[in-house]
Amino acid sequence: MDKKVALVTGGSRGIGEAICRKLAADGFFVIVASRSLDKVEGVAAAICEAGGDAAGLALDVGDVDSFKDKVKELNQRFGAPQVLVNNAGITADNLMMRIKPESFDSVMNTNLRGAYFLAQAMLRGMMKARWGRIINITSVVGLMGNAGQTNYAASKAGMVGFTKSLAREVGSRGITVNAVAPGYIETEMTAGLGEDVKTNFLAGVPCGRMGAADDVAHAVSFIASEGAAYITGQVLSVDGGLYM
Ligand code: NDP
Repeated sequence: MDKKVALVTGGSRGIGEAICRKLAADGFFVIVASRSLDKVEGVAAAICEAGGDAAGLALDVGDVDSFKDKVKELNQRFGAPQVLVNNAGITADNLMMRIKPESFDSVMNTNLRGAYFLAQAMLRGMMKARWGRIINITSVVGLMGNAGQTNYAASKAGMVGFTKSLAREVGSRGITVNAVAPGYIETEMTAGLGEDVKTNFLAGVPCGRMGAADDVAHAVSFIASEGAAYITGQVLSVDGGLYM
């Protein structure tokens, strides 16, 4: 394979799908991963039809026990990924007093634990290549907090500390580790928000609009590029100025 391989989790829709399309357009071979094989194969097929290279992979980031086999399968089928985008994420919003341990655990498991151990599984290949990009999709909520999202905010703030610490560990190996912090982006995740909630959010956004998945994809594309080789341990906000 002459193209670099990029693995994007949560690639079946929303921000992850936009990242997959953009990285493919940038010349990466993209592995589109999520729990829904039919959907990721659909995204990969659309990328190939548009002239890019991609394949779908069924991967549950909450099932870290499966990573060993998945990484073996990946390396055999496509070669070791040199770009990992930890994008898969869920919410389970509730007020603190009502959050059940199961709901806290499922958010932490998908958003943080999965990202952490997937990065660990991918590092060997990146170290061998002496080139790698780990890009963690955190959230403005992890930086500024949000009532009703203590579990989600904890997972996303955890990603920031993880990003900075790993960046310090692997910088000398040609591997950068950065986070991208989207603000309010129009996807299925935010589709259920009421109009009054959206109006409130927008009042704090200097750019005056919700973001598009492509806005986030462009930031990820830059961090994955050769030109971003001297940028590591950073959190790049893509939030229309909501948090500054
Ligand atoms: P969506 O809900 O639209 O998409 C979530 C993606 O994650 C889907 O592809 C889903 O695929 C995948 N996913 C969920 N659980 C798992 C799992 N256990 N294993 C593998 N894949 C999984 O969300 P967005 O596109 O809006 O969000 C993408 C990321 O951006 C998330 O990390 C989110 O927290 C973050 N973000 C989003 C913001 C927004 O406003 N939309 C703002 C800030 C951050 P499937 O169901 O097929 O497994």
